[in-house]
Amino acid sequence: MKILRLNKAGLPQCWVSKEIAATLCVKQQVVWSLGDKRSILHGGYNNEGLRSVLSIPPIIACEGKTSRQCLTPALSNRTLFRRDDHFCLYCGKQFPYGLLTRDHIIPSSQGGEDSWQNLVSACQRCNSFKGARTPEEAGMELLAVPFTPNIYEFMYLSNRQIIGDQMAYLQSRFRDSHRHWQAA
Ligand SMILES: [Zn+2]
Repeated sequence: MKILRLNKAGLPQCWVSKEIAATLCVKQQVVWSLGDKRSILHGGYNNEGLRSVLSIPPIIACEGKTSRQCLTPALSNRTLFRRDDHFCLYCGKQFPYGLLTRDHIIPSSQGGEDSWQNLVSACQRCNSFKGARTPEEAGMELLAVPFTPNIYEFMYLSNRQIIGDQMAYLQSRFRDSHRHWQAA
């Protein structure tokens, strides 16, 4: 399980390990926190032979900056397929990770970019049928409009083991389009 690190204003920064979260707690950099399901981390022994125990909340808002300040989330096959909930956006069937491909809506050969808005998940069959054509040229229809995830959605996409409190926090800031997507 990872800990969701926010800045003081509540904007997600990154997922951190329990150990890093513990360090932030000890250094008193945690300004506020959320969530009931705390992780227990055992530390070292003190001079009296007592072991320190830290209880770490699932969401921590911290002072200071993280190295990641980039606003457009990095695109990987994993996050792309997860955005599309592992559906092929042409035939509408769901596939396991290994059977999906990354399809450029406007093909690279026609100047299509590697961007969240120009990429969708497609099964191998649909992708090879489409080839180096646009959906219009291939007579295919996209089942949903591809979107660039906001930082809350990206945090959701980039971690597969999110616990209830973290999910509730992130989901409250998903855009409506993403909620519809999830429900579709
Ligand atoms: Zn398909």
